[in-house]
Amino acid sequence: MRLRNIPRADEVILNHPIAIKNETANRGIWSSVFQNNHPIHIEIGMGKGQFILTLAKQNPEINYIGIERYSSVLLRALEKYDSEEFCHLTNIRFICMDAGDIQDVFAPEEIGRIYLNFSDPWPKARHAKRRLTSVNFLTKYAPVLNKDGILEFKTDNRPLFDFSLEQIPEAGWTLLGHTFDLHNDPTMNEGNVMTEYEAKFSALGNPIHKLIAKP
Ligand code: SAM
Repeated sequence: MRLRNIPRADEVILNHPIAIKNETANRGIWSSVFQNNHPIHIEIGMGKGQFILTLAKQNPEINYIGIERYSSVLLRALEKYDSEEFCHLTNIRFICMDAGDIQDVFAPEEIGRIYLNFSDPWPKARHAKRRLTSVNFLTKYAPVLNKDGILEFKTDNRPLFDFSLEQIPEAGWTLLGHTFDLHNDPTMNEGNVMTEYEAKFSALGNPIHKLIAKP
């Protein structure tokens, strides 16, 4: 994701009602933030938020939390939320944080699903631990997922996808399904919501890969 420093991003986040400021204070009590006991699904590295906002609109009985590391990118998601299409939604929150801190923000078994979409590939071998599907991160996600919890990952990057397929069993996780060509796999593609990157890369003719796994 191309980044520009946008000075007003921090101020907008500070004042926006759906941007969480004290995320660690909500650990274990996210249901009270949403004022209901609906399942909580999160997207890590949501970028500009098209995917998670669309899911929140489609599924009012599920609570969604979008996580993004950069305030300048989160700002774009907040601007999208403020549009006529999404501004009425009460089942979505955003957090500006690094995924590595996930256990400081969510208590054991607090989450029902984790989405990772078009995560940064970190192609150099020495950066493998920074990939969001590495054993390093899978080990951090496992405790926060509940007993039926799953992770869904999409990418057009074949080396990253192959790496992820290897990391799943290495972390002691179970692969529940995978495809190398999501858009031509009617079962896996059912109900698929495209992300910004997915729309861009599939328009270029890149096949989209997807896996579903559980700890
Ligand atoms: N998911 C979106 C999509 O598919 O259109 C955006 C994909 S973009 C390539 C990856 C996003 O993940 C970037 O916005 C980046 O800042 C964010 N990201 C990368 N590493 C992260 C981390 N450790 N914690 C939180 N966000 C992260």
